[in-house]
Amino acid sequence: MNTEPLRFDNRFIQDLPGDEETGPRVRDVRGAVWSAVMPTPVAAPTLLAYSPELAAQLGWGPDLLESADFARVFGGNALYEGMQPWAANYGGHQFGHWAGQLGDGRAISLGELLAPDGLRWELQLKGAGRTPYSRGADGRAVLRSSIREFLCSEAMHHLGVPTTRALSLVGTGESVVRDMFYDGHPAAEPGAVVCRGAPSFLRFGSFELPASRGDSALLRQLVDFCIARDFPELADAGAERHAQWFAQVCERTAVLVAHWMRVGFVHGVMNTDNLSILGLTIDYGPYGWVDDYDPDWTPNTTDAQGRRYRFGTQPQVAYWNLTRLAQALSPLFDDVAPLHAGLARFQAVHARCERDDTAAKLGLDACRDADDLALMADWLQILHDGEMDMTLAFRGLIDFDPQAPDVAVLEEAFYSADRRAGVLPALQGWLQAYAQRLQSDRLDPAQRRQRMSAANPVYVLRNWLAQEAIELAEQGDLSGVHALQDVLRRPYEVQPGREHYAGKRPEWARDKAGCSMLSCSS
Ligand code: AMP
Ligand code: MG
Repeated sequence: MNTEPLRFDNRFIQDLPGDEETGPRVRDVRGAVWSAVMPTPVAAPTLLAYSPELAAQLGWGPDLLESADFARVFGGNALYEGMQPWAANYGGHQFGHWAGQLGDGRAISLGELLAPDGLRWELQLKGAGRTPYSRGADGRAVLRSSIREFLCSEAMHHLGVPTTRALSLVGTGESVVRDMFYDGHPAAEPGAVVCRGAPSFLRFGSFELPASRGDSALLRQLVDFCIARDFPELADAGAERHAQWFAQVCERTAVLVAHWMRVGFVHGVMNTDNLSILGLTIDYGPYGWVDDYDPDWTPNTTDAQGRRYRFGTQPQVAYWNLTRLAQALSPLFDDVAPLHAGLARFQAVHARCERDDTAAKLGLDACRDADDLALMADWLQILHDGEMDMTLAFRGLIDFDPQAPDVAVLEEAFYSADRRAGVLPALQGWLQAYAQRLQSDRLDPAQRRQRMSAANPVYVLRNWLAQEAIELAEQGDLSGVHALQDVLRRPYEVQPGREHYAGKRPEWARDKAGCSMLSCSS
């Protein structure tokens, strides 16, 4: 294949030690951070959707995207010149426990592309077949979870949330057997492969694995590689670089979870192997979007008991994960003070983001003091007590007129008349307090509206919307996927005619699989 314009440097495998054995035989891989392995070809690769935005960043036009080779390459049946597939080795803490070696069990990186603008994009197939890290599993992914990863990656990007991206969604023409709820009812489902892109797919667990094996030399090599490739601004920091790097990771992680809390996203599986060293949202699995505001909600059925990864605890879990990373990095430090300083950085940045988001979401000139934070806390308590839709309630508040405080702007957000009645007195009291606070604010009404509109999305990938698109796609109709992809390009703008996508969860979706609960089995 002639692919002259594509430049791959594959620095991860050029600069770092690899496994001597190639191929997918399952094994413990020591002293190496990657294993060469080819994608397993599929029966009938068909391009179902792609992201023109990411393609443009890669410098790829329609000729490449619409060529027959494209679906073959991104389905795992062919390679562009310069691609050298590998699976990465990493470990992780899963649900609070050290799980040992995990690695890319169903992800295979094709290469690191240097885009025309100089940015680096590692392109990685998810669902491309077995690797040395597949353990007992098949290395494949089903269409439903692939659609969820494809749509949400790009939706998050347009929401301004740091994320890995999704280039393409390719149907395999093969079926994959899954027992969706681990209840002894396996079924065949259509399979798919997503190609995702990020400057780096390193995770906290990438560093934990060599540390857990006492391999400080490999740990140091990997950290220095990550700094040189992914944090070049720190390369000149000399002996300080490890401390500065850890502080940066803490800062980015704080910013990331603050975004999740702002838009109502629940990751669902915040294991340390699923936290990106770049502070990107990574590994879209049983994630979900908050409908009625509930800090205790988790979309992940596997987590239904302990609710470790529920919406409201995400900042604390991120912090705990950083303490695991700090522990892993400790052999590189003579003194633990810089690690403590990094963790303190997380707390400080998270607190700053919380204040900024309070001001932006409520339309205040600034979060001035503890009273403003309390105003937000009281509002969230009302949303919870009144079973109010988070997205609709914040958007409703944009139309609130402090001169004439009225609940009418929030009517859309209620799911139940009883819960509405129960919370009404508190809500009326709160609206009075809010109106009073706005009187002393420096923003004029137009500025306030603009500020709130930029922080409170109209359209998010509500679980039931994704499910509707998935059910159509499973019948061979991709129109729902394409429509959602389009709506979610401009999530902060009201798009006339697209009210369906801004509506609250319909009653049928309240307890439906795929809408209110999801399993890891994908
Ligand atoms: P996750 O919870 O999706 O991040 O996955 C945790 C670990 O299980 C990772 O090492 C994955 O690569 C692996 N894994 C998940 N699903 C599969 C699959 N279908 N085949 C092989 N490995 C898998
Ligand atoms: Mg993962």
